[in-house]
Amino acid sequence: MRNQEYTQEVVNLHTHSFYCGHGSGTVEEYVQSASEKGIALLGMSEHCPVPDGRWNRSRMDFDQIESYERDCRVAKETAPEGLSVLTGYECDYLPEYQSYYAEVAERVDYLICAIHDLSTELSREYSVFWNQLSKKNLATYTDMYCESLSSGLFLFGAHPDLFGYYYHTWDGETEACSRAIIECAVANNVALEINANGLRKRKVQLHDGWRNPYPLSPFWEIASEYPLQVVTNSDAHNPSLLKEGYEACAQIASENNLQFCSYRVEREQTGSTRIALI
Ligand SMILES: [Zn+2]
Ligand SMILES: [Zn+2]
Repeated sequence: MRNQEYTQEVVNLHTHSFYCGHGSGTVEEYVQSASEKGIALLGMSEHCPVPDGRWNRSRMDFDQIESYERDCRVAKETAPEGLSVLTGYECDYLPEYQSYYAEVAERVDYLICAIHDLSTELSREYSVFWNQLSKKNLATYTDMYCESLSSGLFLFGAHPDLFGYYYHTWDGETEACSRAIIECAVANNVALEINANGLRKRKVQLHDGWRNPYPLSPFWEIASEYPLQVVTNSDAHNPSLLKEGYEACAQIASENNLQFCSYRVEREQTGSTRIALI
C-alpha cells in the first residue's frame, strides 16, 4: 500500500465538466489545467444522476455515467507525473437514494454531498437558487443537510451555507440552522466546505449594502467555536477556474481561526484508492 499526503492548497476535489450540462471542459482539459496550476490532487465530482431522473436538468443522463467514469479512469492512468486524479460525484442526498449512492461509492474514490433542492416530490423542484426561502424552508434545508451528513457516505459537505443565497437576513433561524449543521458535521466526522463559487456569483443586496450569496461570514464565525474539519474548493464549472477564489476562502478561514484539513490518499496494490481527511 502506498500513502501520500496533500495539503489543501494543492487539492481541488470539487469540479464539474461538460457532463453536467451547465459546466464546460472535458476531464482531459481539467487534467491539463490542474498540472499548469500546480494542483497535485484533482478530484472530478460531477453532479451524480439518480435512477429515476430527478434533478435531470442539472446533471448528466443516467446512461452517460459509464463514459464519465471511463474518462476519469483514463485521466488517472495518463495524468502527468506529480498529479493524481480521483473519480467522485457530488450527490444531492435523499434517504431513498442511500443504497444507490452506497453502490456508486463502491466504484469511485469519494462522494461529497450538497442540498440544492428542497422538494421531496419527484415531479416538482424547489431550488435554493431560484426561490425565496421561508423560515420553514430553512428548517427543511437543515434537516436535509444533516441527514446527508449522517448517512456515512460523504467525505465532506459542499457549501453548507448555500441557504443564504435567497435568505438575506441573519437572524435566530440562520444561527440555529448553522449550529445544527456544524454540530452534525462534527458529530459525524464529516468536513464542511468553504466554497469559492459563491464569490463568483452576483452579490445579493441587503438593506445596508451587498454581500456574496455564500460563503456566509457569520456561519464560519460560528464554526470557529467547534472542532470542525474545514476544506475549501473552487467548485469549478470550467477548467480555468480550478484555483479561483482559493486566497479569498483561505482568508475567510484565517479570519475565523479555522484551519484547512490535509488529505491522505491510500493506494492498494489492487489499484483501489481510499481518501481520508487528516
Ligand atoms: Zn453545478
Ligand atoms: Zn458543485
